[in-house]
Amino acid sequence: MHEWALAESVIKTAVEHAAAEKLKKLKETGVVFGELQAIDQDIFVFALEELRRQYPAAKTCRFKIINEPAAFLCKACAHKFSLKALKKTCDEAEFIHFVPEMAHTFLKCPKCQSPDFEIAAGRGVHISYIRGDK
Ligand SMILES: [Zn+2]
Repeated sequence: MHEWALAESVIKTAVEHAAAEKLKKLKETGVVFGELQAIDQDIFVFALEELRRQYPAAKTCRFKIINEPAAFLCKACAHKFSLKALKKTCDEAEFIHFVPEMAHTFLKCPKCQSPDFEIAAGRGVHISYIRGDK
């Protein structure tokens, strides 16, 4: 049910932004969807469409999903790599789809084999922009 709570917070944020900026009409909200999260995108989009009906200000708003690929940055050698590169180095890479915190236990930099890397992009879900008419 996490998808529903998330969808509601996205709608609320857009509606509150519209009120704060005195927008007459919300047009589009960009929602960045990271590759590394356990949110079901279909359920999330469905929840958005259902819940927005409860918010008059959100009725005119289009919610655009922007898929963001994961990117990792090695702290040892500064090599930047993708989830695809990681999967080639490790059979257990599937785990990070569910528990990003576990990534370091299973994964290594494909270049220098260091387990010391950070997730530079593709984590979680957040709002990228909110557009509307004044
Ligand atoms: Zn490295």
